[in-house]
Amino acid sequence: MVVPGTQRTVAVIGQGTWGVGLSRRNRSREVEALRLGVSLGMTLIDTAEFYSAGGAEEVVGDAVADCRDQVFLVTKVWPSNAGYAETLASVKQSLRRLHTDRIDAVLLHWPTRSVPLRETFRAFADLQRAGAVGAAGVSNFGPAWLRRAKDAAPSNGDIGRLAFNQVPYSLGHRQVERAILPYAQQHGQVVMAYSPLGHGRMPAWRGYSALIEVAAARGTTPAQIALAFLTSRPGVVAIPKAVRPEHVRANAAAASIALTPGELRRLERAFPLGRAAEIPILPPYTVFFRLILWAATLQIQR
Ligand code: NAP
Repeated sequence: MVVPGTQRTVAVIGQGTWGVGLSRRNRSREVEALRLGVSLGMTLIDTAEFYSAGGAEEVVGDAVADCRDQVFLVTKVWPSNAGYAETLASVKQSLRRLHTDRIDAVLLHWPTRSVPLRETFRAFADLQRAGAVGAAGVSNFGPAWLRRAKDAAPSNGDIGRLAFNQVPYSLGHRQVERAILPYAQQHGQVVMAYSPLGHGRMPAWRGYSALIEVAAARGTTPAQIALAFLTSRPGVVAIPKAVRPEHVRANAAAASIALTPGELRRLERAFPLGRAAEIPILPPYTVFFRLILWAATLQIQR
C-alpha cells in the first residue's frame, strides 16, 4: 500500500513490538523473530519510545542493522514528550536506539491535553524537512481528536500531513469502522490496526466459533483469518506482534489470503460493529503509566 504523501509503499501486514525488549534474556529470540518476519515480507515494523522504556527500539535497531533499507520503521512519541523541543529530543533518542538516521514514520502515541497538538506537529514537520522523518501521524485518535488534529496540522503540501492513524482494530473490536476508518479513507490516511489478534486473547471474542469455522474450511488458522479480515478493508495495515517463529510465518502467509464475500459476510455477522465510535482515551501521563515505565526500566536493567 502506498503511504499518502510519500513515494513509499508499506506491507499490509507488519510487525508489532509491544512487550519486546523487556528482558535481555529474550533479545536474540526477539531479534530473530523480527528478522524472519522481514525476510517473509513483513517489512513494516512498529515500535515506540514507551515500549520497554526504549528497549523495544533497541531490539528493532539490532534486527534491522543489515536490512535497514528493506524496512519501513514506525515509532511513536509519548504524550509527555509532545512539546516542540521534547518531540525533537525524543526522536533524536529514538534514532540513536534504532541505530539509524531516518525514521520512516513518527506518530504521536496518544492525544494529550497538556500540549497543543500544533507544537508536536510543527516538530514533526521540521523533522521531515531535515530528512530525519519520512511521514507523520497519530495514534489512538478518535473522530473528535482527528478533527482537532486536522486543524492543527501544518497545511504545507505533504510536509506535516498526517499519513497514519494507529488504532485498536480487530474482529473483536470493530468500532473503528464506524467513523475512524471512513474518516481515514476520505482523507487519505492509512489506518494501522494494533492488537489485531486481541493481544493474544482471540478465544475470548464472542463469535470466535465462526472464526474457527471459516479458518477450518480454508485450512488456515483463526489468527490468519482475523488478519485477512482487516487487510480486506481498503487503507488498512495490521501490525501483529509475534515472537514464536510459527506465529511469524503464519502472520506473513496471511497477507496472501483474500476472503470471499461470503466469508466476509459470515464474519461481519458473527462480530458486530460495537457502539462507541470514540476511542476511550487513557490518560497516559497519569501516575499509573509512569509506574509501568519505571517498572519496565527496572526489568531491563536486570
Ligand atoms: P496482538 O498482535 O494482537 O497479539 C499478540 C499476541 O498474539 C502474542 O501473544 C503473540 O504470541 C500472539 N500471536 C501472534 N501471532 C499469532 C498467530 N499467528 N497465532 C496465534 N497467536 C499469535 O497484540 P499487541 O501486541 O497488543 O498488538 C500488536 C502491536 O500493535 C504491538 O506489539 C504494538 O506494536 C502495537 N500497539 C500499539 C498501541 C498503541 O497505543 N498505539 C497499543 C497496543 C499495541 P507470541 O509473541 O508468543 O508469538
